[in-house]
Amino acid sequence: MSDAAHDYLIALGSNVRHVRHGAPERVLSAAVDAVAELAEVMTLSRVVRSRPLGPSLREYANAALVLRTDCEPEDLLEALQSIERSFGRKRRGSAWSARTLDLDIVLWSGGSWCTPHITIPHPEFRRRTFVLGPAAQVAPNWRDPISNLTLLQLDHRLRDQAA
Ligand code: AMP
Repeated sequence: MSDAAHDYLIALGSNVRHVRHGAPERVLSAAVDAVAELAEVMTLSRVVRSRPLGPSLREYANAALVLRTDCEPEDLLEALQSIERSFGRKRRGSAWSARTLDLDIVLWSGGSWCTPHITIPHPEFRRRTFVLGPAAQVAPNWRDPISNLTLLQLDHRLRDQAA
């Protein structure tokens, strides 16, 4: 922990029913409650449904939120991974396997950050409509420090490319 408050943009995803919480949307709602116990949730997107990437056949539910906390990136990632584990996520098998809960750090107010365990901005986020759509809802004017484009601009650009 440090004294400074940081803002983090977090992407949430789920494509598996949870034995207690139920369908992926309900998993996300319970995950937001768990994240809110860690730190202050400033804004929360609507849940969007998206078709799966790769061989998985299950539809995804995705959302994004902005979190304010004193945690540095490594500490926050550890806390988010602990929440993932508490929802039963297993870190084995294919990258595209079913996921009860996936929590990624997309951006933080400290700009770029790269260590062996964590890369911010998240390396894949500019290519993922299911991340950019919710992200642009909660923080449309937040600028990606690498491309210098806002989340809204990145979302529009990706949608134009897909059209
Ligand atoms: P995934 O299976 O896609 O959730 O990837 C998890 C792995 O990505 C973990 O081992 C993390 O250490 C690593 N990672 C690197 N950068 C990030 C980030 N910005 N947010 C979340 N996980 C990250």
